[in-house]
Amino acid sequence: MKEYKTDTKCVQSGYSPKNGEPRILPIYQSTTFKYESSEQMGNLFDLKEPGYFYTRLQNPTNDMAAARICALEGGTAAMLTSSGQAANFFSLFNIAKAGDHIVSSSAIYGGTFNLLSVTMKKMGIETTFVHPDCSPDELRSAFRPNTKALFAETIANPALTVLDIEKFAGIAHENGVPLVVDNTFPTPINCRPFEFGADIVTHSTTKYMDGHAATVGGAIVDSGNFDWEAYADKFPGLTTPDDSYHGIVYTEKFGKAAFITKATSQIMRDLGSIQSPQNAFLLNLGLETLAVRMQRHCENALYIAKALEKDERISWVEYPGLESSKYYDLAKKYMPGGTCGVISFGVRGGRNAATVFMDSLKLAAIVTHVADVRTCVLHPASTTHRQLSDEQMKEGGISPDLIRLSVGIENKEDILEDIKQALDNV
Ligand SMILES: *Cc1c(COP(=O)(O)O)cnc(C)c1O
Repeated sequence: MKEYKTDTKCVQSGYSPKNGEPRILPIYQSTTFKYESSEQMGNLFDLKEPGYFYTRLQNPTNDMAAARICALEGGTAAMLTSSGQAANFFSLFNIAKAGDHIVSSSAIYGGTFNLLSVTMKKMGIETTFVHPDCSPDELRSAFRPNTKALFAETIANPALTVLDIEKFAGIAHENGVPLVVDNTFPTPINCRPFEFGADIVTHSTTKYMDGHAATVGGAIVDSGNFDWEAYADKFPGLTTPDDSYHGIVYTEKFGKAAFITKATSQIMRDLGSIQSPQNAFLLNLGLETLAVRMQRHCENALYIAKALEKDERISWVEYPGLESSKYYDLAKKYMPGGTCGVISFGVRGGRNAATVFMDSLKLAAIVTHVADVRTCVLHPASTTHRQLSDEQMKEGGISPDLIRLSVGIENKEDILEDIKQALDNV
């Protein structure tokens, strides 16, 4: 089949109806699937034949939406999960168990930071955090003999650091482990981490992929490039018999699909964080317009960021698409077509000024969300981080005046006018 360009894949990949079938992806609203004989059903349970039997493990609507994300990332296999949190957890828990260790970038989403530093720690999996801008030697020194993965975000939420993917991939591979990256903010429209050596990509599809703030969801995509058998001792879950499937060895039986097959047939089976087919349908609709929306988000965000940079009521602006950003060169290399629609900035006057500014906005809404079609803002100091003192917030890399602005796809002049009238009130 012809290899189409990314924006064509957004519209055409994943589902190809046969003669007389529905033109758009149908919702398989069924928990279960019918077979003619118990032997056929038995073969599915033993993973001898591919097929659907129960929607806690797999559903055709989910798989076709996942296939579209897989095509966009240039991967070999993919699956959907009920949330981005589940995607990140599954991608790591699929290869790390109690007694193992993970190295992670410290500039990551707060929920993922909690997952690693609190919940997975309780499960016996320890994480060492390193700043993504650290030197190669600092990164190397974080690894231990029991390290099973290196984790980072391509553009961090909310810090907006841009990952040097090749640096991270090279050092992961020196240590015989895969690089797992959360590519939620740039999406595969702007960044394809597999082209730079990442092995596994995760997404919170809740953000730009759905794009309309309609559904919570996640996805895991495997490049198929990591050679688990070359490090068989490190990854026994993939390279030795699985007793819960009559001794199947995933790498032997499924080759490049080993990682996703294990995550589906073992972790999803046992932990059950499947996305509902209804949500997968809505996600798939969102994916159809992802390329045009990302272009518009980036165009609008750059316009707003440049205007904020010139406004003396603003104390600082961070947007990786700005030439003044410390991450501009990395962004140009890894995401030459654009970064994302999220900007962070400070209003002169600190915490109070930021609150007045936020309350004066008319078009931009105050919500705990980012990366959808509607412009929205969040002031961590008065919401998600309100229990913390200014000092504590600074230690966590968040200044009291920080405003996270997620630029939508409205007319950019309307968005800027709203920001300016709100600044007038400060
Ligand atoms: C939102 C987010 C998550 C968590 O995803 P949910 O869908 O909310 O569970 C993970 N990583 C990043 C980068 C995010 O922005």
